[in-house]
Formats: sequence, C-alpha cells, structure tokens
Amino acid sequence: MAKQFKPETLCVQAGWTPKKGEPRVLPIYQSTTFKYETSEQMARLFDLEEAGYFYTRLQNPTNDAVAAKIAALEGGVGAMLTSSGQAANFYAIFNICQAGDHFVASSCIYGGTFNLFGVTLKKLGIDVTFVNPDASEEEISAAFRPNTKALFGETISNPTLEVLDIEKFARIAHSHGVPLIVDNTFPTPINCRPFEWGADIVVHSTTKYMDGHATSVGGAIVDSGNFDWDAHADKFPGLCTPDESYHGLTYTKAFGKMAYITKATAQLMRDLGSIQSPQNAFLLNLGLETLHLRMPQHCKNAQAVAEYLSKNDKVAWVNYCGLPGDKYHDLAQKYMPNGSCGVVTFGLKGGREVAIKFMDSLKLAAIVTHVADARTCVLHPASHTHRQLSDEQLMEAGVRPDLIRFSVGIENADDIIADIEQALKA
Ligand code: PLP
Repeated sequence: MAKQFKPETLCVQAGWTPKKGEPRVLPIYQSTTFKYETSEQMARLFDLEEAGYFYTRLQNPTNDAVAAKIAALEGGVGAMLTSSGQAANFYAIFNICQAGDHFVASSCIYGGTFNLFGVTLKKLGIDVTFVNPDASEEEISAAFRPNTKALFGETISNPTLEVLDIEKFARIAHSHGVPLIVDNTFPTPINCRPFEWGADIVVHSTTKYMDGHATSVGGAIVDSGNFDWDAHADKFPGLCTPDESYHGLTYTKAFGKMAYITKATAQLMRDLGSIQSPQNAFLLNLGLETLHLRMPQHCKNAQAVAEYLSKNDKVAWVNYCGLPGDKYHDLAQKYMPNGSCGVVTFGLKGGREVAIKFMDSLKLAAIVTHVADARTCVLHPASHTHRQLSDEQLMEAGVRPDLIRFSVGIENADDIIADIEQALKA
C-alpha cells in the first residue's frame, strides 16, 4: 500500500492486503520457522540472494506487515520492529558506528537513551558528544570530529518537552556528511514526519502512543532511503564495503535505498536478536489502527489541561508547546501545526514535597512508570526514574526537582481537570 493514501487510511489498512480467502485481520504468524521444498531454496535465502522467511529472529510476516505500516506512515522505504525502543536506538547507532567511532546527540533526550549513549556505547568504544539542541549551528558543528558518523535528536524530548529544530539539525548533519537520526516517539507520524524536514532515519518506542494501550513494549527503525551512503563511503565501510558474513555482499550495491535497513535486519538482528514477538506486533497493529483518532484527542485534552494549569495560582510553571507563551511554541507550530503530543510538565509552588502530596491525591490519573497511553498517568522523575540524582544533578540533566510529568489520556478533559483540581485542593 503506497504513499497515495492519507495517514488515516494507512493507519487502518497499510501493511496487510489479504488475497482471496485469506484472513481479513493480520494473522499472528506464531512460528519460529518456515518450510522449504529444497535445500537449495533455503541456501539462497541465507545468502540474501532471494527474499523469504526462514527464521523469526530475522523476519516474520506479522512483524513485517506492521513494520511496513509504520514505514508507510513515516514515508520511508522500509522499517524493522525491535523488542523495545531502547533496542531501536541501540541498533540505529550501532548499524553505522563501530569501536573508534563517534556521534553527536542532543542532550535533551530520554534518560534511558542518554545512559545508553553516554555509558553503555562508550564501553563498546563508541564515543558521544552531547550538545544543547538550541545552540547555534556553529556551536553544534564544533562537536563534530573526523570520525563522527551520525547526529541524533528527539522531535519532542521526554520528559523536558523541548522541540527539535529538525531542519537545522539536518543541515548540520548533512554538512558533515552524516545522517540525522530522529526519535519521533512523542508526536508520532500523525503529528510530525521528520523525513519531510530532512531527517534520514526515524526511531520509535512503539511502547508509547503507537501501541497506545500500554500492552506491549516495542520499538521500530524506519529508513527514509534518502541518505547517500556511497557518497561518504569512507565513513560507512559497514554499508559500502563487502560484508564477509554474507560472502562479500555489499549492502549499498545489493540493496540500494534499502541498504541501511537491510543491514540492520540481516546483520544486527541476526547477531543480536532483539526481535519483537509476533504477538506484540499484532497488538501494536491494533493500536496503530486508531492512532489517527487518538492523537488529536490526546492533544486536545493536553491543551485544555495546560491552559487550566497555566491559570492556576498554585502552579509555578507549565511546559506545553501548545501554549502561545511557550518557548517552543513557534517551532511546534512549524513542525506540528495540528498538535504535538499529550504530555504536559509542570511544577507546583512549594516544590518537591508539594508535588508528591499532589500526586498521592490524584484519583483518576494513576502513578505509573509510563507515558503516552490512553489512560491519564503521572510521574515525578525526581522521586522515581531519576531518584538517585541530587537536586543539582537533576538540574544538570535538565529535569527540575519539582517537575511533574502529566501524560494526558483520551478520557473526557473535564474529568481530568476535575481530578487535578481536587488534588490541588488536597
Ligand atoms: N525513546 C523515547 C522518546 C522514550 O520516551 C523511551 C521510553 O520512555 C524510549 C525511547 C525507550 O523505549 P522503550 O521503553 O520502549 O525501550
């Protein structure tokens, strides 16, 4: 199903087009293996000379259908599902970086990704420099080195809600001959399609709005097919020179625009094996079928909550790029004119202690380590995800000690606001 369909149609129908007599609903191919008639047929699959399924660690029809839907929604040439958003971010970098390489990342990113990049990838010999995404092009460019292989950012950062200037980041990446990788988890392709602004690779934690119902942890990598790896072949030997583990095949020669995503599947997934289970891919697909209906409702409710909070005198500050006075309002209008996401952050007068009391008093909104699902939920990073950090360290990470992350669901906004109101009174 190609790009001529609009996002709403792609959400419902892309990826699975049954033929005569086949199930209307995408089936769960709950099988590790796939049968062949001759040994020669299977050998050709192992040499990547023919496309086909042979082992679910590499590819599975249910997963591929869902990946194709996500690729269509983002406007990419191909996609791969992973077992989590963490795995997607790891593979996205590791597919083009090896020991001795370096990449540049926005410092305003999800804490788990910050740790993956700053601690775990360093142990593998891959170095990162974090940059303030709001810095000038010159300042960000200064972080690049001869061995830099990628630039990374989040469209809307979790939990600090900075909006990435994607065009600026794409210009910087391309002027240094490297791709821009964007984590588009919070807006989803319903609200922002980073490829249209110059990004080359998009990653997702599908655990969030895409699944939308908090049932399945998962991730995805999408390839735009636009980056010209061969034009910078010296930087990307993994894609542009023969892979001995596939009898000397060169990905860019054999797969053209699909080189990056094919390597991620055929080499990284083969060797590291963080697949999404077909059962989870099936649930993700059900979520995707209503993504275009849920996102506007999340945004509408979040806007109402943010406006209510910004007028309440118990509230010290509110971050939501839908508010006209917000620092990121203009960037959000440019990249996400129809709405951004359902997550609002704010602080209460009285700081950390008052935040905890407020959260304990909520009745409809649940305290959970999650964000971006249908049910309104809330988290206080200083007490939960970031509790090992001192107030000073929190500020360095860009997370204010009083920050409450409020993930607005798709219930009725009046009920959500009434819950906030009673908790503020308590
Ligand atoms: N990227 C973003 C923006 C996230 O918010 C998260 C998780 O919260 C991740 C990646 C990691 O995803 P997962 O929890 O699915 O591994």
